[in-house]
Amino acid sequence: MTTVTPMMAQYLEIKAQYPDALLFYRMGDFYEMFFDDAVAASEALDIALTKRGKHDGDDIPMCGVPVHAAEGYLLTLIRKGFRVAVGEQLESPEEAKKRGSKSVVKRDVVRLVTPGTLTEDSLLEARRHNYLAALGSVRDDFALSWCDISTGAFHVMPLSRARIGAELARLAPSELLLSEKVEDTLREVLDDLGLEPTVLGAASFDSGAATGRLCTLFGVQELTAFGDFGRPELSAMGALVDYLDITQKGRLPLLRPPRAEAVSRLMQIDAATRRNLELTSSLQGGRAGSLLSVIDRTVTSGGARLLERRVSSPSRELPVIRERLEAVQWGVSSSGSDALRDALRRVPDVDRALSRLGLDRGGPRDLAAVRNALAQAEALSGRLEGEELPDLLTRSRADLGGFDDLLGLLDAALIAEPPLMVRDGGFVAPGYDEALDQARTLRDEGRGVIARMQGEYSAETGIGSLKIKHNNVLGYFIEVTATHADKMHALSERFIHRQTTANQVRFTTVDLSDLETRILNAGNEALEIEKRLYEALKTAILEQAPGLSTLALALSEFDLTLGLAELARQRDWCAPQVDDSRAFAIDAGRHPVVEAALQASGAPFIANDCGLSAEGDAAAVTLLTGPNMAGKSTYLRQNALIALLAQMGSFVPARAAHIGIVSQIFSRVGASDDLARGRSTFMVEMVETAAILNQADARALVILDEIGRGTATYDGLSIAWATLEHLHEVNRVRGLFATHYHEMTVLAGKLKGVKNATVAVKEWEGDVIFLHEVREGAADRSYGVQVAQLAGLPKAVIARARDVLEALEKGEREKAAPMALIDDLPLFSAASQRDVPKAVSRETSEVEERLAALHPDEMTPREAMDALYALKGLL
Ligand code: ADP
Repeated sequence: MTTVTPMMAQYLEIKAQYPDALLFYRMGDFYEMFFDDAVAASEALDIALTKRGKHDGDDIPMCGVPVHAAEGYLLTLIRKGFRVAVGEQLESPEEAKKRGSKSVVKRDVVRLVTPGTLTEDSLLEARRHNYLAALGSVRDDFALSWCDISTGAFHVMPLSRARIGAELARLAPSELLLSEKVEDTLREVLDDLGLEPTVLGAASFDSGAATGRLCTLFGVQELTAFGDFGRPELSAMGALVDYLDITQKGRLPLLRPPRAEAVSRLMQIDAATRRNLELTSSLQGGRAGSLLSVIDRTVTSGGARLLERRVSSPSRELPVIRERLEAVQWGVSSSGSDALRDALRRVPDVDRALSRLGLDRGGPRDLAAVRNALAQAEALSGRLEGEELPDLLTRSRADLGGFDDLLGLLDAALIAEPPLMVRDGGFVAPGYDEALDQARTLRDEGRGVIARMQGEYSAETGIGSLKIKHNNVLGYFIEVTATHADKMHALSERFIHRQTTANQVRFTTVDLSDLETRILNAGNEALEIEKRLYEALKTAILEQAPGLSTLALALSEFDLTLGLAELARQRDWCAPQVDDSRAFAIDAGRHPVVEAALQASGAPFIANDCGLSAEGDAAAVTLLTGPNMAGKSTYLRQNALIALLAQMGSFVPARAAHIGIVSQIFSRVGASDDLARGRSTFMVEMVETAAILNQADARALVILDEIGRGTATYDGLSIAWATLEHLHEVNRVRGLFATHYHEMTVLAGKLKGVKNATVAVKEWEGDVIFLHEVREGAADRSYGVQVAQLAGLPKAVIARARDVLEALEKGEREKAAPMALIDDLPLFSAASQRDVPKAVSRETSEVEERLAALHPDEMTPREAMDALYALKGLL
């Protein structure tokens, strides 16, 4: 027979509700895990697996983590893809005992920790968003909704099936909620992005139920105030709110009202282009080496997150772009920006503090974060007083004010650097609350207060030797020598007799016994008062939460603007001219990331112009040829990045730039190695090219790097050729097309909008020197052999390659069959038998080669003589 202890029965009951999560089961100072949870967690956390009791005759595996260190372990588990249900004790063991001697302490899950629902600083990256997204659908209409509960951001966007991958790539959510029915149909998109969705039942996505959930969340009767949402949008938002309800156990985070976004307002950048342009993370993964990493000069976490948002979602609305550019221009020319940035440096992360306070996971430091932010906001608007600001910043400045009362309150209430936990107390400033001050005085200065009382009584009675003493039986008491007893008895109204000993008489007073109780309770009382004050301050803050998030955004806007201005000054970037023409004229453009990398090594970056301005709705494509390593990819990408930077509202790395709004950017590299995803590289290349040809419109900027190189020469050439024609004739894009198929350069003569350009190289003593200069015209040769030589291919192979190349070129000139010519060449093995001399170049004569191969020291006079005759014979 199996006996299950009451505790284990409780554990199993709770665990049954969370089959997909590890259950952290609180036992005193530890969170314990049992059974399979314990096995998985001990392995993931590298902690000891022990056992406790038996279940069905088997040992129960167990492991545990101390509560005070739980955050670190949680982080590891979340990073490794686990979800964790945190089960707490909801009463003390004493309370449980009162209910019955065998009762187990009540426990329940208070929170389900998942990647998309984190709020703790230690679990989050300060400078990045942590989005939870949900995809809603009604038949074939989709909508994506996303929120960051650590900052309160909440958005929704209707979109077509084809855009799902691109938008998910833009947002890079930490967690994606899907209904079972769409999961299968999106497998490929999800795999491509490496997203493992959280699948919820259809009820979560019910658009009917969504309205009710949203109204409850925002405390409104109707949603119309926030916008007119379609059913797919409601479904997505409703699923988010439902999931928050499940994971936060009914405690809903402070979300701002949902902001409806439209695909059409943003520059469209699909997943492959994002990866390729290395916008927020590099191809190696991670932030280092990305565009974001080299342009980030923000000094606050909120500013850094705003920058990430702008880099991921450049605008295509002219007024928005111009406003942002004006703001940066102001920052560039403002003399006081250093002082402003100094004030900003002291701004804490208000968004995240607010979110923790809202979920009741905060502490005194979060109150202080709000206070410090308000103080810095005040300092900032003080510095900006009377300053003529551009529109965007005028609005932001207005959002900084209006919190005098709250700031006054927090300033008066909090000490400068409060402790982390409410339960430790000690964060309320002295002088703020009389009762608290008294409690603390009593706690800290109990003896002093007693001494003062003793002085008062002694004066009152005229007994100089009167003492207040303490013992364990009586507690505090007043003691006089027996000689003064009568005097005291005469005042018996006030001094109550307690005890008479041989020489002394002891009394107490109502005040003294009050004081005694108060001293004993003072410590506890101080804590209780502080807890009450904490709640009151928290409420005062939360009442103004919407205004405070607006203030946080205004601070971020200033930080971002000044950061971009600083960048522009440091790196000598210029203000782009953006309009709704179809211009694309870059004067002396640079690649921000490559330039920064070169700068570290002291090498100069060669700036290059780019002219893709198109007339009417005609196409303008530059066909770029040139050897590998010349700088083609760099050039292609730098122009895409310049367009993107301009439209996110930043200055650009160029001497001048004129950009007619770009609606979409496409960037593709031929045959990138994609074996990990199990598709042939050529297939990937074609799928991606197809997407461009099907989607690019006349406002698209298309950048194709060596398309077609993933297949046999003639196939590749034909595909590249047809692609370029289609882009020119049908899509009519502005574009750059790098290729090693020199044959394509004839297209410049056939298609009006196509011109040739090449990256110049110089040949010197058989080596190539890369000039990294883009010039008009076509490359004469590809210098592949020279590049191979630079790469350190064995000399024998280089020499052989040169022979083959020469034969092929000769064959082409003489229209002979190339294979026949190659057949005529000595075999590689034979060629490699020759001792290949150092520094062979095509100009080296046979005499020189033979001469170089001679080793005079090892020759007899006779052999030397023969060699000399042989050489002479070659002339
Ligand atoms: P390609 O695409 O022609 O093979 P890349 O664009 O990859 O060549 O450039 C090769 C290397 O040349 C880069 O890593 C960079 O260090 C250097 N380079 C490219 N463009 C420039 C430039 N404009 N100025 C200086 N160095 C450059």
